[in-house]
Amino acid sequence: SAKNAGRNGYRFFDAAMTVAADERLRMEADLRRALTNGEFVLHYQPKIGTASRRLLGFEALIRWQQRDGSLVAPARFIPLAEETGLIGAIGEWALNTACQTLQRWRAEGLRNLSMSVNLSARQLRNPALPAQVQGALARSGIPPERLEMEITESVAMEDPARTVEILRELKAIGIGLSIDDFGTGYSSLAYLKLLPIDCLKLDRTFVTDIETDPNDAAICAATIRLAHTLGLSVVAEGVETVEQARYLDGLACDVMQGYYFSRPLPEAAARAFIINGVRGGEPAI
Ligand code: C2E
Ligand code: MG
Ligand code: MG
Ligand code: MG
Repeated sequence: SAKNAGRNGYRFFDAAMTVAADERLRMEADLRRALTNGEFVLHYQPKIGTASRRLLGFEALIRWQQRDGSLVAPARFIPLAEETGLIGAIGEWALNTACQTLQRWRAEGLRNLSMSVNLSARQLRNPALPAQVQGALARSGIPPERLEMEITESVAMEDPARTVEILRELKAIGIGLSIDDFGTGYSSLAYLKLLPIDCLKLDRTFVTDIETDPNDAAICAATIRLAHTLGLSVVAEGVETVEQARYLDGLACDVMQGYYFSRPLPEAAARAFIINGVRGGEPAI
């Protein structure tokens, strides 16, 4: 079983599309068991206001915790979960868990923070999604405007007319909506204008060399201007250095996320981050 297979067992997840059918069945069973056994955990990565250097909230990122404590990254199991449909249950677990974590912090007085949850293609197309979101909000008691959902640009643009309809339903609940990994898909600007979104998340690939590659710098500057013209805010992903942070500040990028500020953190460490505050900034509370 995957539990005994250890590190080597999971290399197959990297090539989920090409492995033998019986191996896939076994991996699917492992994933299903992981859900019932509570082997998934969420880590939380801070989002920092660029101008204020204040903590605005977190993005919940799923990991699969192994018996030995090691973590399997989402890239190695989300694709199979997506293919098999297990993403429905896994995604609903992530949504509810993220909302409950935020509510626990709020109950301790750690307020004014938001929580972002990632959505896959199949989740977005699931007609039950709006009801799941309303259920998660009702069970946790967090106000809708504190919850945000992230949809990648490529998923959003797969069937943009349909995406507009679905996102309108989600927006009616009052939650925030972001386009993730922006710049790596093929956005139709005609549809981008129609999407009821709040934010673009500029993909990490444009941020990495922002100070040295004039093309990347131009893409970042133009995307930020476009977003602001459309009334959207911009989050830069993958900010790893103080120089990148300063450059983005100069472009009036609204929010930053990346290892420079913090890696995704287990719940207890995220709570400590809220209390200790952002490096070079004010405490959040
Ligand atoms: P994403 O939503 O674009 O998340 C950003 C990814 O970049 C995360 O990888 C994060 O750990 C990583 N990252 C953040 N800052 C930096 C940085 O400064 N440098 C570098 N090199 N990397 C950085 P992670 O956690 O492995 O997640 C990968 C992807 O898996 C996510 O991309 C998201 O698309 C998906 N994912 C994660 N959790 C969930 C979930 O609960 N549901 C669904 N459907 N997808 C999820
Ligand atoms: Mg994301
Ligand atoms: Mg992203
Ligand atoms: Mg990304």
